[in-house]
Amino acid sequence: MILSEQKPWEEILDYLAGENNVFILGCNGCAQSSGTGGPLEVEEMKRKLEEAGKKITGAMVIDFLCQKALVKSRLRARTQQVEDADSILVMTCGIGVQAVSAAINKACHPACNTISLGGSRGEWQGEERCLECGDCLLDYTGGICPLTACTKGLINGPCGGTSRGKCELDPEKDCGWELIYERLKQRNQLDKLRKFIAPKDYSKMMANPKMLSTSRYALEQSD
Ligand code: SF4
Ligand code: SF4
Repeated sequence: MILSEQKPWEEILDYLAGENNVFILGCNGCAQSSGTGGPLEVEEMKRKLEEAGKKITGAMVIDFLCQKALVKSRLRARTQQVEDADSILVMTCGIGVQAVSAAINKACHPACNTISLGGSRGEWQGEERCLECGDCLLDYTGGICPLTACTKGLINGPCGGTSRGKCELDPEKDCGWELIYERLKQRNQLDKLRKFIAPKDYSKMMANPKMLSTSRYALEQSD
């Protein structure tokens, strides 16, 4: 179970500035049970965006947005709607946004922040791809998490040590910031790199005390 909360409305509108046509994607997995990206929330987001003057080219809820193959196959029937959109608003956790962004060559905006469960973390198959930082940066980085893709977790990279696309600390590993650069270049979004990302509030990575007292947390911690 991965917990998420919706980003502030102003932040979502800010991501969509200059874009008129939006495709909305929701997730019937953890985002649905978090109340952030299930059918009800997708419908509500559609309504609000239309009120804000955006054209919604299509909206869809997929069982698990963290499954790249599933995302690709389910979106096949909506190819035209996705093509007509300037971007995709993805209403789910950081792992789901990363999977969608890797599956579709289109700007993807995260509508949610993934928040800490106090120890249980979301997993990409085979590796850690989200640290549940509580303030998702994937909009600025082409859908690649700088906290996990960069060995130093730099949020304003690269560090200068990258060589031939590899990390200076681990020559076997691709430099996360080079991957981010290439992804943004492919999507004509290199201007995103001009934004200085302010130091993160790392206290947001702590599980909030209210959540620690819920039965959901107790279930996550039980054997
Ligand atoms: S920036 Fe990375 S760690 Fe933070 S919520 Fe997004 S994917 Fe997770
Ligand atoms: S070489 Fe790239 S991945 Fe490695 S620490 Fe520097 S910016 Fe991060």
